[in-house]
Amino acid sequence: MQAGTTIFEHMSGLARQHGAVNLGQGFPDFGWPEAVLAAGAEAITTGYNQYPPMRGLPELRAAVAEFYQRRQGLVVAPEQVIVTSGATEALAASIMAVAGPGDEVILFAPAYDAYAPLVARAGARPVWVTLTPPDWQASGQAIAAAITPRTRAILLNTPHNPTGAMASPAMLAAIADLARAHDLIIISDEVWEEVLTGDAPHVSPLTLVPERTIKLGSAGKLLALTGWKVGWVVAEAALAERVAQVHQYLTFTTPPPLQTAVAAGLALPDAWFDAGRAAFVAARDRLVAGLAGGGWHLLPTHGSYFVMADLAASGIRLGDRDFCEAAVVDPGIAAIPLSAFMPDGRQTPFIRLCFAKSNAVIDGGIARLNQARGLPVLQG
Ligand code: PMP
Ligand code: GLN
Repeated sequence: MQAGTTIFEHMSGLARQHGAVNLGQGFPDFGWPEAVLAAGAEAITTGYNQYPPMRGLPELRAAVAEFYQRRQGLVVAPEQVIVTSGATEALAASIMAVAGPGDEVILFAPAYDAYAPLVARAGARPVWVTLTPPDWQASGQAIAAAITPRTRAILLNTPHNPTGAMASPAMLAAIADLARAHDLIIISDEVWEEVLTGDAPHVSPLTLVPERTIKLGSAGKLLALTGWKVGWVVAEAALAERVAQVHQYLTFTTPPPLQTAVAAGLALPDAWFDAGRAAFVAARDRLVAGLAGGGWHLLPTHGSYFVMADLAASGIRLGDRDFCEAAVVDPGIAAIPLSAFMPDGRQTPFIRLCFAKSNAVIDGGIARLNQARGLPVLQG
């Protein structure tokens, strides 16, 4: 199990200490809806601030169901939605609901940093399947080979943090078939479902195997309010009940004024969500063009507000962690090493950059990263 602070906390701390441009930890510095902040403020001062129902405010559960119907064509009843304190709690509750001591959970490497520690906290064992660059997919054969009689769940993340990949139709179909054949639950972390920067539509396994899928979402990503920590799970009744049983003793509830405000946010018109997507695409294009012009080699990204840079292909021989630790000091640029998402923690030649930033921050990041490429000490 990982000890110490998370890589995000670590790099943001160093960025503050050294006055670095922070393209590390994933949080946007633009793009949140002012009307939702006003709804939150009003709900605090005039609304109900005592314990809400354990499964979430009825208006938010209804808003989540309506949002998925409108944006993804999913037919979901409000009763299938359990509101959690961020997708992080949704992950914890889902994992603990389906896996315990002696069980195994299949994870894909690279994986979001919380997955393996949460599986271990549940007493279960992570079993890794590797996603291979540049498209970061796993074959059905590779996934099937990882399944044993002790496997209880497959934890999928699409769109994927840190790579920006989306699970291909073939990978989704393989996971769905294997879940049916081996009686597995798919815990599907879809927090990046609206941050699509490519042409591929987002597809949830809930559309393929509804009876075996726990879909996770986060208002932090949908409304660009990462600090609010309002998330949810969506699953068929029996599965939702199992998650609710865990949730009630993890956090029990989530602040009701924030739930009220998120319900208002999810009801924003399609035009607002589409404009947000277009703004992230423009930010991605600006960062990619500026870095390509400076000789950086970037990998394709299709979802999330992250893009991977290939250090080796960019002429840098340092490992990802060594590069990030040095570059945050001089020339002052924070990025996230891919190794933080890998089970063995070995250094890799890839770093993750966050482009959900204003033009000024992106331009500052481009200038410093291009400077870093020219510093002999950072070339290794
Ligand atoms: N899963 C993934 C893949 C994420 O990228 C994040 C946050 N970046 C989370 C879960 C956590 O979401 P929340 O802040 O809603 O807990
Ligand atoms: N999920 C965000 C990221 O990937 C950070 C979350 C955190 O700081 N724990 O950058």
